[in-house]
Amino acid sequence: MAAQEPLITKTDKSFRDALTSVDDKGERVFFHPKKPKGRYWNARKIVSYVLLALMFSGPFIRVNGHPFMLFNLLEREFILFGVAFWPQDFKILVLGFITLVVFIVLFTAVFGRLFCGWICPQTIFMEMLFRRIEYWIDGDYVAQKKLAAADWNAEKIRKRGIKFAIFFAISFFIANIFLAYLVGSDELFKMISEPLSQHAGSFVALVLFTGVFFFVYWWFREQACTIVCPYGRLQGVLLDRNSLNVAYDFVRGEPRGKHGRNRDESLGDCIDCNQCVVVCPTGIDIRNGTQLECVNCTACIDACDEVMDKVGKPRGLIRYASENSIVAKVRKVFTPRVVIYSALLGILLVLFGYLLTTRTITETSILRARGQMSVLQADGSVKNLYMVKTINKSFDALEVSYVLREPVGRLQLVGQNFTVPPQGYREGAVFVILEAAQLTAPQVPIIIDIVHNGEVVETVKTSFNTSSTN
Ligand code: SF4
Ligand code: SF4
Repeated sequence: MAAQEPLITKTDKSFRDALTSVDDKGERVFFHPKKPKGRYWNARKIVSYVLLALMFSGPFIRVNGHPFMLFNLLEREFILFGVAFWPQDFKILVLGFITLVVFIVLFTAVFGRLFCGWICPQTIFMEMLFRRIEYWIDGDYVAQKKLAAADWNAEKIRKRGIKFAIFFAISFFIANIFLAYLVGSDELFKMISEPLSQHAGSFVALVLFTGVFFFVYWWFREQACTIVCPYGRLQGVLLDRNSLNVAYDFVRGEPRGKHGRNRDESLGDCIDCNQCVVVCPTGIDIRNGTQLECVNCTACIDACDEVMDKVGKPRGLIRYASENSIVAKVRKVFTPRVVIYSALLGILLVLFGYLLTTRTITETSILRARGQMSVLQADGSVKNLYMVKTINKSFDALEVSYVLREPVGRLQLVGQNFTVPPQGYREGAVFVILEAAQLTAPQVPIIIDIVHNGEVVETVKTSFNTSSTN
């Protein structure tokens, strides 16, 4: 169900046709939002400290000497929560991704853009790191506007210079962390300690990432959420009137009117002070209803609560609420849409759990050797040659053996032991020998167990060819 027009009646809907960050001439409009303060701001600061600590330490956390998280796309090496995944685990990764998408859709249908305001790295870096440094260097919004409008003088050059240097240094630091997620912390430390010429690719990536981060936080800013982020752009179809959002209670607030001694009693609680607008980092007026630009940062909730405290009205004129809860005063969570998404998510989780728990630590292919005929032996038995390839998905070397489970027969490994290196593979050959009496069809199905430490770690089915026996 698509998000509908807000129930609030507003004659000027021009805000729906234009981005706040672009003016009539198509030029960039920079916002200088007022520094937020309040209970949500304080809570978000704590959450962001925890998330920043996790984000920055992620690539350096090791479990049994191996990375906890790694997304090495080039070498197709993925480690999630200490478990290594190979390209052969593609179906698990794809199913995991689909499950995640359904979870996001369900989460958004119920909780709106809670993720954007509290967890999204873009919001955390922008609002909790770079913006706060900006307040520290340039001052609050009034001073920032003045500085932006001022001619280039010694003060402006000094402040812009300091800001440039700090923003660049943090961008460089974030780029290092990002790179560590991609190539691993070992490779990152090598790049730092060894001659750059030996790590030219990683260095180019580092320069590129630094440039992108700097560009985003220096200039592009909230446009990453409104123009680039696919999640932001999908809000129109993900949200409905029952989704929880940062919302203005227009039933209570309208008709708005200025605060004063002779204020008309028939007016709503909104005193039209504009504090919710000046504090908004995306430059919107939340009183116009849910908008694409709103990242649910809660700054307007805090600003309005402070105003309500001052005028002696209850807090929560702007709050987390669904549009239907504002109008009908009931919060409906289990809508048909939510029930369907929940059922789908349940099915996907069961499937995903099944694939994860039945995932083997090896991946073996056993194929009959090309151009090799079946050989009739002197004792009447028949033998076929097979090429085997075993991939070791674990972090330890595995000594494996191959055991013919069905039908009863013999299996001979060409060579001695078969040790597969950690996160590597080993190829070899085996003979399968069956008695002539067992060859009841041109293709006899056979089952081979791959055994490690006396335990069957994988089972492979193939067939025994009898048609070209000589
Ligand atoms: S901060 Fe509250 S009272 Fe002031 S304009 Fe916004 S909604 Fe109205
Ligand atoms: S409208 Fe409120 S919650 Fe939305 S981005 Fe602006 S300040 Fe944040």
